[in-house]
Amino acid sequence: MPSDQIGRPRRVVADLPAYRPGKGAAQAEAEHGITNAIKLASNENPAPPLDPILRAVTAASTGLNRYADHRATAVRAALAAKLGVDPSMVTVGSGSAGILQQLAFGYIDPGDPVVFPWRSFEVYPVFTQLMNGTAVQVPLAADLGFDIDALTDAVTDATKLVFLATPNNPTGVATTTADLRRLLDRVSNGTIVCIDEAYREFVDPGFGDPVSELVPEFPNVIVTRTFSKAHGLAGLRVGYAVGHPDVIATVDKTMLPFSVNALAQVAALAALDHEAEIAARVGTILAERARVEIELAATGWTLPNHQGNFVWLDLGDATDDVSAHLERNGVVVRPFSGDGIRVTIGTAEENDRFLTTLAEVAAP
Ligand code: PMP
Repeated sequence: MPSDQIGRPRRVVADLPAYRPGKGAAQAEAEHGITNAIKLASNENPAPPLDPILRAVTAASTGLNRYADHRATAVRAALAAKLGVDPSMVTVGSGSAGILQQLAFGYIDPGDPVVFPWRSFEVYPVFTQLMNGTAVQVPLAADLGFDIDALTDAVTDATKLVFLATPNNPTGVATTTADLRRLLDRVSNGTIVCIDEAYREFVDPGFGDPVSELVPEFPNVIVTRTFSKAHGLAGLRVGYAVGHPDVIATVDKTMLPFSVNALAQVAALAALDHEAEIAARVGTILAERARVEIELAATGWTLPNHQGNFVWLDLGDATDDVSAHLERNGVVVRPFSGDGIRVTIGTAEENDRFLTTLAEVAAP
């Protein structure tokens, strides 16, 4: 029977909302007829990549007629050396989001439960649905941290994957390795627990290090990290994961051929050679985060314990109005309708603009 429907997408895909990236400054300018918009919507680093990284990328661009090394072997080796683990315990992906998707491909069969706190990073429900898995969402605690007991209770022997972002996106609240261990002690090895540390470099070291403290002890733990945030390489797409060699081998089987592009590999290697400069830039962002928090608190805002390069304002029903006002005035933030807005820490000047514009429209 001929039909005029163009293609027949899988039901789960047809039902998926399109991924909504943070709106760009140029788009906001065009929509509102303004100039000078700033984007604080995607938790990017406001500083351009370090000069030595740019030089390495430029030099490597003459070789773009060739495919890159599929396994990004040199990047794996450099990361393994830095982290003090065997290279078989490291994989590299197209952003850490690429690795999260590979985990979904590798572990979720139709109907498998996948547990994660909610709110959290928006790809967890999307990747779960894409695989026809069953999302089990556990509400955050009152302080916007994870409810470890409720999460542990939600995990059953059937659970294939658990996604735990620390710090969490969009709230910025981090989880200590002691709390993660409380959950891991009660989860069997048949359940992979992904600890998503996209914002690791911004976190107070007192929260602990899952790679050195948890990976050696729990073979079902995989920790994902990225060069997108602290290292300022979001546009190149390179992230990595550390875990048991068997888990890494499974993730590797689901890799798109040559998924980590040649320039991303070169940039990651150069970034690993300049950790001190990158740490200094992280320091600048942390100082700005503290300043923004002090100013918001002085106005009366109640804030969670932010540990990422962004802040969260609980705005409830006012979220869309506040976000629209900020945007019309050239400050593009990330709204989560009905809940709140996530605002990336930018340059000092950008942060001042956010604070001033917010004060015009919203009071706590
Ligand atoms: N995890 C979390 C919690 C994030 O917020 C992000 C970025 N939005 C990512 C992973 C993915 O970042 P990337 O793919 O650029 O490494």
